[in-house]
Amino acid sequence: MRIDPLQITDAEEILGLEHPVYVQIRKAKHFAGKYIGLQDHPHSGCAPFPGGKDHHVILINPRGPDASNTLWHELTHALQCERDFDSDFLALAKKHTADSKAVGAGGGVKSADAIKRYRKTPLEKEAIENAEKMHAKYPFDIK
Ligand SMILES: [Zn+2]
Repeated sequence: MRIDPLQITDAEEILGLEHPVYVQIRKAKHFAGKYIGLQDHPHSGCAPFPGGKDHHVILINPRGPDASNTLWHELTHALQCERDFDSDFLALAKKHTADSKAVGAGGGVKSADAIKRYRKTPLEKEAIENAEKMHAKYPFDIK
């Protein structure tokens, strides 16, 4: 599976990102995509490794429109990191965790109600809304 690198470059421009984006495709079951912050070297782990220069997005089992929407969602988190947190991934992660805990949706497995509340936290809400808008306008062709 692959994504046209030019589409990634276009997305960086559309969002006005200063840092380039690196998308890593992996196989897993527990999530669809994950933004893991700025890194110097793409690496195989999921843990944040802050302080680098490239936004690192992990995309899981990418297929069709869901993968495109997921990628736009994670790119919106990259945008939030630059725009709202001065590219400090740990500050974004801290806010994300605090927001999740505040609505009782912190930690691992979540109930349907907790997921609903989680989706309404500010960073998630923007990522969900922006992903739908951007995917409709500029769908990623993920093969
Ligand atoms: Zn999200």
